[in-house]
Amino acid sequence: MEEEKFDAIVVGAGPAGAAAALTLARAGLEVALIERGSYPGAKNVMGGILYGHHMEQLVERFWEKAPLERHISERRFWLLDGDSVTSLAYKSQRFCAEPYNAFTVLRAKFDRWLAGKAEEAGALLLCDTVVTDVIRRDGKVVGIRTGQEDGDLYAGVVIAADGVNSLLAKATGLHAELPADRVALAVKEIIALPREKIEDRFALDGNEGTAIEVFGEATAGMFGTGFIYTNGESLSLGLGAVLSDFVKTGLKPYDLIERFKANPMVRRLIAGGESKEYMAHLIPEGGYDHVPPLYTDGLMVAGDAAGLVNSVHIEGSNLAMTSGRLAAETAIEAKEKGDFSAATLAGYQRRLEESFIMADLKKYRRAPAFFESHPDLFGSYPEMVNAALSELITVDGLTKAEKQKRILEMVARSRPIWNMAGDLAGIWRALA
Ligand SMILES: Cc1cc2nc3c(=O)[nH]c(=O)nc-3n(C[C@H](O)[C@H](O)[C@H](O)COP(=O)(O)OP(=O)(O)OC[C@H]3O[C@@H](n4cnc5c(N)ncnc54)[C@H](O)[C@@H]3O)c2cc1C
Repeated sequence: MEEEKFDAIVVGAGPAGAAAALTLARAGLEVALIERGSYPGAKNVMGGILYGHHMEQLVERFWEKAPLERHISERRFWLLDGDSVTSLAYKSQRFCAEPYNAFTVLRAKFDRWLAGKAEEAGALLLCDTVVTDVIRRDGKVVGIRTGQEDGDLYAGVVIAADGVNSLLAKATGLHAELPADRVALAVKEIIALPREKIEDRFALDGNEGTAIEVFGEATAGMFGTGFIYTNGESLSLGLGAVLSDFVKTGLKPYDLIERFKANPMVRRLIAGGESKEYMAHLIPEGGYDHVPPLYTDGLMVAGDAAGLVNSVHIEGSNLAMTSGRLAAETAIEAKEKGDFSAATLAGYQRRLEESFIMADLKKYRRAPAFFESHPDLFGSYPEMVNAALSELITVDGLTKAEKQKRILEMVARSRPIWNMAGDLAGIWRALA
């Protein structure tokens, strides 16, 4: 029987895969985009910030067409404890004008739309199709095996965009199991609330949105963060912490999210809301040193499958879309040359190295190990800052000199001064 052969097969219709398929189809290549879900995004999870700059490189003026929830005009950073919060906020009118900086999205709608763009450009989208292995000939990847009957498909090149714990990257030996201290377990809930309530509670005008990142109580001091993002008629609320910390502490994600929702600072934001969906997902947070080899003969790996996540800035979707696009550009070049060998696909690695992706990951290469080994930063510091500010602000008859002395004593009790100096030096080395 004649083999069905594409120029390229893209596995996974998340942001990395859809971006790759769209770029390939626009260049006139025959491309199949294969997705295990009943539609793209059906099971995909993200806190929900989509960064405009990288999206516009794929679809011009996308904000006029894409299913976006709100443009984000305010970012807040919370240090949260059991009953108080210190908040640093930045809000700007500049973020309310085209081309916009960032948006909140719901992946079930957004991924479907982006994959639809790839289809419009000519890609063949196959849903409900699980890829179970690669097909090799003479050591080269020449296609994929699916769970369907007669489900082998062949192509010049395969782009593995099948997300964290990529089956394809493992099948080709590029990827090992992710170590538990380099992967975060994240949980998220979508809480429906009327539009006007959201706008009142977060002081938003029209389609403006707020994104809050939460340190401290949200993860019970584990290495990780919580988040609350405003959608059109819902809030996305969740948290993620490194998997090994869940194992060490025995804390359960479900208990943690309930505790987060019950916190008085959070409770008032979600009051009256109706929980619509609960999801859990892994995030590869190993950073630069855990990026696996990115290509082999006939195959490239993109997005989360390649561990391309900047956990310091909570960016993943933009790295996924950009890496998908760069893998596609490499495949287009390979098609022109008629050579899909590793030597040609090495161009993908070069493109990534020249992009913001590898530059940013390299910059923060020390961050994952440093933060993992300094859990106090996520536990005692938020409490310390809140207690110090509470003491400073409370007017209770003590003189200001007495208050200052109390604050210094309290700070020294919770974290000796030489430890703090070491922490600051470590933070500087990890982030500078
Ligand atoms: C809770 C949470 C919050 C986050 N918040 C943000 C944020 O605010 N901003 C941000 O930029 N990033 C965020 N991220 C990270 C972001 O979601 C990812 O980096 C991004 O989704 C990666 O895209 P991807 O296309 O590589 O992988 P995915 O989005 O995981 O897509 C992989 C696709 O492959 C499909 N697939 C997998 N295996 C197979 C198979 N064998 N056969 C066929 N199909 C398969 C899946 O169904 C899926 O559609 C967050 C992640 C989580 C979990």
